[in-house]
Order: sequence, then structure tokens, then C-alpha cells
Amino acid sequence: MEKYVFGVDIGINSVNVGLFSENIKLIDRWTIPWDKRHKNESVLPYLSQFIKEKAQGKDIKSVGLSVAGPVINNSIVLDYKEQGFGSAHIKAAFEKMTGIDTYVINDCNAAALGEMIEESRVKSFNNAFFISVGKSIGGAVISKGEIITGFSGSAGEIGHIIINPFETEKCRCGRCGCLEQYVSLSGIIKYANTLKLNRMETKLGNMFTIKDISLLAEKGDPLCSKVVEFTGFNIGLALSMASNIFDPEKIILSGGVIDAGENIVNSVINNYRKYAYKDSSKAEITTSKIKENAGIFGAAKFASSF
Ligand SMILES: [Zn+2]
Repeated sequence: MEKYVFGVDIGINSVNVGLFSENIKLIDRWTIPWDKRHKNESVLPYLSQFIKEKAQGKDIKSVGLSVAGPVINNSIVLDYKEQGFGSAHIKAAFEKMTGIDTYVINDCNAAALGEMIEESRVKSFNNAFFISVGKSIGGAVISKGEIITGFSGSAGEIGHIIINPFETEKCRCGRCGCLEQYVSLSGIIKYANTLKLNRMETKLGNMFTIKDISLLAEKGDPLCSKVVEFTGFNIGLALSMASNIFDPEKIILSGGVIDAGENIVNSVINNYRKYAYKDSSKAEITTSKIKENAGIFGAAKFASSF
């Protein structure tokens, strides 16, 4: 009998579920809305019911759960209260609810694995860095084709590299001056508003998105051009620091900020090439190919590897 794997990506506002063949071909896909109504309860009991329904009549090998927050031993997520987990042994809890072998992976690591499946169809590679820049900033290290999770599950957390040690406002991680504070979606909007308050010339209205900034920058808007360069500089510089540690052959850019405009991507690439060390600066840089599906593909791939 053919075996199947579930890849689940638990986001803040929704949960994506994919049913895959054992060799990671997507068979079916669902999105479960997960909004404020459920905020104070764990998503797990609800999700386990859903999985049990979809699993009926099928031989399920395993479930991969992609979650935000550091994960240790493929089992325990640390400190992620937004999704009703706190610090919890998710593997044990979900296996008890479903009776299916479950493996837990950090969301950025899952997305990186998902992208790797897609990128490898064109050209195989061993060492890569994946960065996701959206509401938050996360990253993942792929070495010899595998994700490096580190001692405490925090490897690759490029969003929390401190780029400004003199910052006094706190990042959500509790420290001050992290990359995420400046060039996440809200960080960029905040920076643009600061420039507006300083009366820098712009056609930007009161309500705007990163896409608006990118489009106006294309037309030469001074404020928006500065915001695009600020964004590319900070992301490119942080990536160049990361590349000094493990010299990736490929860098994959992903997330809402990256999708907002080609000029942002180009600015990231130019700044990376400018600041990276020696031949590290020649790393191939690509953008996400499967976007919001990356998490379910990666979670399924991870779960099928055990
Ligand atoms: Zn931080």
C-alpha cells in the first residue's frame, strides 16, 4: 500500500496542510483559517482532528509540523506563546492525539528545505543560506544538504543579529538593535514614516505598503529610493556577515519584503556583493520559487526523512 506524509505549516493567521506521497509529490492542499477567535487555545487539538479526518483510509507514514520559534530534538518548541504552545513537547502531544509519528521543525528551516527541493530540480547544491523577510525575519543554514539547527535550535536566526548596539527600543526577542527591528515589514514602514516626519520629499500618502515604496522609488521618489537602499543595505550587510561563517554557494531570498519589488532584491544583491568576503561575494542569489508552499513541502520532506 502506498504511503503518505503530511506537511503542516502553522502560521500566525492560518495553518497550511499538504498531503504528499512519500517521495514528496503534492496530492492535496488545504488552508485552515486560524484567527483571533482561537488565540487563547492551542491549535493542536483542532489540527489533529483535521489530520485524522484526512488520513482516513490511507497509510500515513508521518506528519511534519513547521512552527515558529526554536525547536530542539525535532520535538520541543521553545517559547512560542502566540500559537498557544508556550514551551511544549509538541511531538509527544500530537502523537498522542493522532497516533501518527510526528516531527517538528522550525518554520524557516522547513521553508528552506522546501525551496531546496525546488532549486535542486534545476541544479543540485550543498551549502546555502535561506532568508525570509516579512513580518519577522528568519533564516536557515543548509550545509551538506542538511539543515543546521545548532545547540539550542537557533542556528540561522539572522533577524536577530544586532546591527545597532546603540538602539534603546526593544526587539520582540527582548534585546535591542536587531536586524528585524529595521527591515521587517513594520520596521521599513516605521523608517519611511520617520523620513516623512523629517519632511523628506515624497509622493507617499498616509497609508502605504512596501510595494508602494518600491514603485515610487522606480519613479525616482527621493524618500522611497532612500528606503529601498536602506532595506537592501541592511539585509545585504547582514547576509555578508552570515556568509563569513560558512561561505554558502547559494543564497535564497524570500518573504513579503523581497516580493515587494525587484529594486529591493537588486539592492540586497548589490550590497551583499559589496560587503561579502572574497569569493563568498560570488554566491548565486535567487528568490523563492514556491513561496507560501515552501513550508508544507519542507515539513513533509523533513518528516519523510525519518
Ligand atoms: Zn531580536
